[in-house]
Amino acid sequence: MIEGNEAQLPTAGADPGARAPAPGSLRLIQALVNTLNAETGRDLLGTAGEAVTWLAAAGLLPPGSVLAGPQHAALLELREATRQVLSGHIHRRDDPAAASRLAMALAPCRLTLAIDPAGDVRLVSADHDPFSRVIGGIAAAIAEAATAGTWARLKCCPGRRCGWAFYDRSASSRSRWCSMQICGARAKMRAYRDRQAAD
Ligand SMILES: [Zn+2]
Repeated sequence: MIEGNEAQLPTAGADPGARAPAPGSLRLIQALVNTLNAETGRDLLGTAGEAVTWLAAAGLLPPGSVLAGPQHAALLELREATRQVLSGHIHRRDDPAAASRLAMALAPCRLTLAIDPAGDVRLVSADHDPFSRVIGGIAAAIAEAATAGTWARLKCCPGRRCGWAFYDRSASSRSRWCSMQICGARAKMRAYRDRQAAD
């Protein structure tokens, strides 16, 4: 994050239901994944210019920066690799392909520790290149969430044309749908129709 910049994290739609956003740095990851609304097709990272606007609002890139085509593609790959890992959090099964895809997408960044004289220690980007610092900021946010024990609660809804990232605050940590009323109800209806068709 760029120091002193109050991060705004626009998403391509409202969170369904009454779910509160993810806590701490994980909110950045949730917002990144939710820059794409699969249902409406709205994509806040659709062009390199739009991606710069979003990254600047999120405090990850100085305003007025330029993203090259391959950097824009790398950002979209990072978003979709993250979505794949978060989809795996629903099933609680190991998904080595998703894990290595995300590790690959994060590989171009280098991280180091910022040591605060007051005792605070945190991961920060060690890169000078602005786009590598973007990747580093995202990697540090994921690492922080994993340390806080919140990473596994960020999930992507398996609903058809959904994939929305939501934070599961349930005691059992077994929430499956972004919203029981929307994707949960649709899945139930489909299962019901399938059973009828099979009879
Ligand atoms: Zn959903």
